[in-house]
Amino acid sequence: MILLPSVIFRKGLNLKEVVATTLADDYASAVIDEMASGGFRRALGRLTVHLAKEFGFCYGVDRAVDYAYQTRTRFPDRAIYLTGEIIHNPHVNDKLRAAGIRFLSDPHEPRDPLGPDSVIIIPAFGVTVSELANYKQRECTLVDTTCGSVLNVWKNVERYATDGFTALIHGKVHHEETQATASQALRYPGGRFLVVLDLDQTQRVCDYIRSGGDRRAFLDEFAHAASEGFDPNRDLERIGLANQTTMLMSESLKVGEMCRQAMIDRYGEAELNVHYRAFDTICSATQDRQDAVQSLLDREQLNLAIVVGGYNSSNTRNLARICSAQLPTYHVADVKSLRSPTEIHHRPVDAPLSNLAKPRSQQEITATDWLPATGAVAVGLTAGASTPNNVIGQVVQRLEQFAGESLPK
Ligand code: SF4
Repeated sequence: MILLPSVIFRKGLNLKEVVATTLADDYASAVIDEMASGGFRRALGRLTVHLAKEFGFCYGVDRAVDYAYQTRTRFPDRAIYLTGEIIHNPHVNDKLRAAGIRFLSDPHEPRDPLGPDSVIIIPAFGVTVSELANYKQRECTLVDTTCGSVLNVWKNVERYATDGFTALIHGKVHHEETQATASQALRYPGGRFLVVLDLDQTQRVCDYIRSGGDRRAFLDEFAHAASEGFDPNRDLERIGLANQTTMLMSESLKVGEMCRQAMIDRYGEAELNVHYRAFDTICSATQDRQDAVQSLLDREQLNLAIVVGGYNSSNTRNLARICSAQLPTYHVADVKSLRSPTEIHHRPVDAPLSNLAKPRSQQEITATDWLPATGAVAVGLTAGASTPNNVIGQVVQRLEQFAGESLPK
């Protein structure tokens, strides 16, 4: 057997046109195309669906899925592996499994030892430094779909590490992207990181910056969220802020402001640059989707909102949080969650992240009488950056069906 030389593809595999039709067949939706070109609304009887002006697949996801299809076409006879979910949407991952792409993260996936004949697709979130080194050492062929916006975060984290700043990452510690970003800090001697999930954790970091505290308790709380050997007395003296790109923008800004103020309180405004750095690492696609749904909420008188996307999709959950601050909101994985005009299954917006390990049925709760039974109903609709249009389109069609069912004949 003649093996291809070990190589890294970072700009696709020159098969974009070849896979375009298959991609459209798998993920496009005529209903959604119509809505997008027709004012982002669709009316049927008493029900009107208002779609946010930015929704669904972002540029990074679009590219990653495209490259995965190109990879399958380019290497029809070779074992192709994804390091994990290509994006956090079960429909897309299942399509890739059906195309014969295997997932290294699937615990029961039988696989040959990785070697020069293996093709590894790196997802849009990227992988850790050590994982990448392992694939290179085995001379695997790599198709790297790491999103440019993620690479941008890494560059800044690297700069923090070389300048002696701890990377303070606002993110979910077990999320692939956050793990990959944190690992960038460790490429340099003395590089360190600390991951904070929310404002409560940030507050505890800020308290420690201002006046120290119980070192042991601090280390216990951040045991799985800090670099090895982390010492808050030393490693909180200089921090540089970074984000998982899909966090809630408003919350990331607050994290930054809290840390900045804590540093001013501790060292004085004149010394701020010596102790604190920040840059905006929420990607523009995430921000656009959050801004668009907020604008929809501000513009229209809505009765309820539906947010479509994988339950482990961070950016989808954040869209649901924005909506739920203003009106009844249902985060649904797909059309199957919309059982009837009186019953919907959905993931509670503030469900703990630990629930994500459970099967879908155990993550969902049931709401009844969720669709007002009479009168005009305005539904706000959006979808996370990993949700394909056909999944959103099916939800719209089901809503129309419900509206039809409840209309007088
Ligand atoms: S959400 Fe942003 S960072 Fe993530 S893949 Fe999409 S564009 Fe890239």
